[in-house]
Amino acid sequence: MKTIEDLEVTGKRVFVRADLNVPLSGATITDDGRIRAVAPTIAKLLARGARVVVASHLGRPKGEPDPQFSLAPVAVRLGEILGAPVAFATDTVGESAKATVAALGDGEVTLLENLRFNAGETSKDDAERGAFADELAALADLYVGDGFGAVHRKHASVYDLPARLPHAVGDLIATEVGVLKRLTEEVARPYVVVLGGSKVSDKVGVIDNLLGKADRILIGGGMAYTFLAALGHEVGISLLQKDQIPTVLEYLERGKANGVEFVIPVDVAISASFPDLKTKAPVEDFEVVDADAIPADKEGLDIGPKTRALFAEKIADAATVFWNGPVGVFEHPAFAEGTKAVAQALLESDAFTVVGGGDSAAAVRILGFDETKFGHISTGGGASLEYLEGKTLPGLAALEG
Ligand code: ADP
Ligand code: MG
Repeated sequence: MKTIEDLEVTGKRVFVRADLNVPLSGATITDDGRIRAVAPTIAKLLARGARVVVASHLGRPKGEPDPQFSLAPVAVRLGEILGAPVAFATDTVGESAKATVAALGDGEVTLLENLRFNAGETSKDDAERGAFADELAALADLYVGDGFGAVHRKHASVYDLPARLPHAVGDLIATEVGVLKRLTEEVARPYVVVLGGSKVSDKVGVIDNLLGKADRILIGGGMAYTFLAALGHEVGISLLQKDQIPTVLEYLERGKANGVEFVIPVDVAISASFPDLKTKAPVEDFEVVDADAIPADKEGLDIGPKTRALFAEKIADAATVFWNGPVGVFEHPAFAEGTKAVAQALLESDAFTVVGGGDSAAAVRILGFDETKFGHISTGGGASLEYLEGKTLPGLAALEG
């Protein structure tokens, strides 16, 4: 793969496919981690006199303009981070985009409106995607792929566009791939994997692949209840994916056979209902019970104190830790303790620590941890997971050669 240093960028229009898919509350960016992550690549190109055209998706609009998914607030924040004005095009490949790009001087930058306001971006039809990629290609001379969070998508701007322009990999993707190699090929042991989040089905492939690589797999979050149910415990009204129980049982078996230790919660924090994440109203019936004593009418929403200590102990001597998925509903303070404890355990270990997953990365920041103290905080949840599953990622394949 070529890096941006290999490109002759001065005076050239350089298309940077970034992942600026940040969480928004109205027009307010609640976590700007992804913007900050790609800013150095853009700054480097600007310093070399490139005319930078940044593009990204945001949320899941349905192939047409939808103001709630506008990148306008991101343009403002990107400008603040770069310390330079960012011209915002109010469409992606239309009149505004053409005019804004044409007006760029050397060392100036524009952000195009949401790629997914165009049906061609995500189309399953090669011709439709290709036609949109042609329109994008007309706006640039060179392509830099740096939207790590989107490299697992076979989308026009990720997969088809680099085939149409001389291309290179941006610094963010280069770093991410280097980290992923340390989690798959050049692993320092003991290697501990902490998995949480809401659904087992999201993480099944990762467990499958890491069962051959990790020494310990710690299971928290909503997926823990499918593990507990597989072990025959009552899980009340907790998140449960019954159809995944056979898979989970097979993993537990394979773990035994491969000498991979599964660590399942021994106690959990429960309530009769899912907490209100908007008002963050106190949880009146908050209670901690052993994991084999969840009442039928209660929902498990975090790991309990015994599990926090157990997880910390299992992380303490690690040389490599990969963590994906909050171990509780951290968005509510009553159920954030488990996620805090995991973050703290990572910081206290001497391991190379990697946090993957959009919500996990946001959790680290929202809960007040210093992100620079972690080995690496990945910007791409799905992309990291698919890489760890052993899959070929279209956006990386497109940057080869
Ligand atoms: P990531 O984006 O880091 O990959 P996921 O998207 O898989 O993480 O999961 C994050 C979500 O999982 C959070 O919104 C959190 O509230 C939720 N979650 C964690 N524990 C539970 C639980 N016990 N029950 C329901 N949801 C949970
Ligand atoms: Mg998520």
